[in-house]
Amino acid sequence: MNAPAQDGRRFDVIIIGGALAGAATAISLLRERPGLRVLIIEKTAAFTRRVGEATVEVSGYFLSRVLGLTQHLNEAHLVKQGMRFWFFNEATKALDRCSEIGGRYLARVPAYQVDRAVLDEEVLRRALALGAELWRPANVGRIQLTPGGLQTVEVRRLEQQEQVQARWVVDASGVAAVLARQEGWWRANQAHPTTAVWARWTDVKDWDGLELAEKFPDWAMACHGIRATATNHFTGDGWWAWCIPLKGGDVSIGIVFDQRRVRWPEGGPLGERLKNFLMQHPVAREILAGANWREGDVHWRKNLPYYSTTFAGDGFVLVGDASAFLDPLYSPGMDWISFTVSSAASLILLQQHGEDIAARVAKHNRDFALSYQRWFAALYRDKYEYLGEYDLLRVAFLLDLGLYYLGVASQPFQRGKMALCEPVFTSRRSTPFYHLMRAYNRRFAQMARSRRERARLGRRNAGRRFMFRGYTFARSSALPIFAALGCWARLELTEGWRSWWRPRVAAAQPDPMLIPVRGATPQR
Ligand SMILES: Cc1cc2nc3c(=O)[nH]c(=O)nc-3n(C[C@H](O)[C@H](O)[C@H](O)COP(=O)(O)OP(=O)(O)OC[C@H]3O[C@@H](n4cnc5c(N)ncnc54)[C@H](O)[C@@H]3O)c2cc1C
Repeated sequence: MNAPAQDGRRFDVIIIGGALAGAATAISLLRERPGLRVLIIEKTAAFTRRVGEATVEVSGYFLSRVLGLTQHLNEAHLVKQGMRFWFFNEATKALDRCSEIGGRYLARVPAYQVDRAVLDEEVLRRALALGAELWRPANVGRIQLTPGGLQTVEVRRLEQQEQVQARWVVDASGVAAVLARQEGWWRANQAHPTTAVWARWTDVKDWDGLELAEKFPDWAMACHGIRATATNHFTGDGWWAWCIPLKGGDVSIGIVFDQRRVRWPEGGPLGERLKNFLMQHPVAREILAGANWREGDVHWRKNLPYYSTTFAGDGFVLVGDASAFLDPLYSPGMDWISFTVSSAASLILLQQHGEDIAARVAKHNRDFALSYQRWFAALYRDKYEYLGEYDLLRVAFLLDLGLYYLGVASQPFQRGKMALCEPVFTSRRSTPFYHLMRAYNRRFAQMARSRRERARLGRRNAGRRFMFRGYTFARSSALPIFAALGCWARLELTEGWRSWWRPRVAAAQPDPMLIPVRGATPQR
């Protein structure tokens, strides 16, 4: 028999999971309403390193200016120097022959390379300093949802099973997605069958060191910034790999591949298979020549993307990975945390102020379902078809990044943190941009398919270097976007015409991305 919740075990908010999304929610609530009784329940006794190490501009804003972590980020992590992409084909025998996309100078808007074991402990520590209570290690079991009433959570800690109650439950349990799975809301995004394999590495070569500068002087001279602290991406047909440095010298390196395009090698230790796979890329071959993966820190996750059909009700709300996951290419994980946490905190605070939240809950569900669908269709659907193509990805990257700066990243910097309560692609004015992005992404995937059929993949991957200035939030930053649209038009006229009249490759199943939008009450 479980012990019923006593008064001392009654809270205003119970948060399941004390990592970034959970602890950030606690901070957002307690800053606005210091007297709130917030309980965080975290399964692990200490955080270990995990993926989610590169922020982009929105998550950089959220961590530094909303959570107030700038000094911590500067002292315990690394300032990120944008993204770089590396391309190869059979003619690129050495690193300097591989085509490159990246900034010539340092980045203009801050973002960070973070060690999640360190960062998440710090965010949790700050939540506790603001008054949150922590049960750790403690495991949340079943949750009894009572819309508009008290939510009851079963917890196992100190070998005991007990119950605790609160007006609100925030699910921040990450991929465990405790609430979505329990309630039957969890769905795999079958349109994007991707797998990731990753590890932390030692003895990775210094991208900006003397060895490479002496071996490849022209290559070294081409970049006036710092390559090592960028997120460097090695790309190939149907796959890409990240190379993210961490403070102290270890480097996070992992691959993500589309299961429809890449056959993952079988047999042997996972770290060895990862290294062998990466060795096909001349840049990885050079950089990882003497590198070793850390034993016990090699990981595998299959079928990455998923979503919950319900994001909130009167008494519960899902944040971070507990609500959905897209794709790691442009590091949207912590952006998603920024939006879900900001909206969740605002919803709870509204109710705590005595407001009727029925309409707000319905909007929350509509907005996040729409945001996930559009974010996926605009940026990630079928992207792995053309990831390894220098010329196609160059134009897509310029457009993706430019439009992100113009329409998404600029918003919190110019309007403040309230902009984080408007999930991406949910405003009326964002709709034309969504259609534009989905259109060029589809077209580049079509062009790549056509190249594959004609055995012409990767023909433009050797000896090209696109070193751009980087975007800002100034209006003049729109100019490279127009230039990229011109490049798209040229691509259409020179080769796109081959696939103009072809139907888009149909998905095997009915479109799995049509998320039914639920109302305010939990659906079973
Ligand atoms: C391959 C890959 C690469 C990625 N790269 C990036 C990147 O570069 N940048 C980026 O922004 N994002 C990236 N992401 C996404 C990023 O990792 C996640 O978005 C982020 O870690 C989610 O944080 P979270 O706090 O929601 O969940 P988590 O960090 O998963 O935390 C969930 C917490 O809940 C706890 N918990 C779980 N179940 C229970 C329970 N029953 N009871 C109590 N506690 C529980 C867990 O112990 C854990 O501490 C990547 C993802 C993948 C798969």
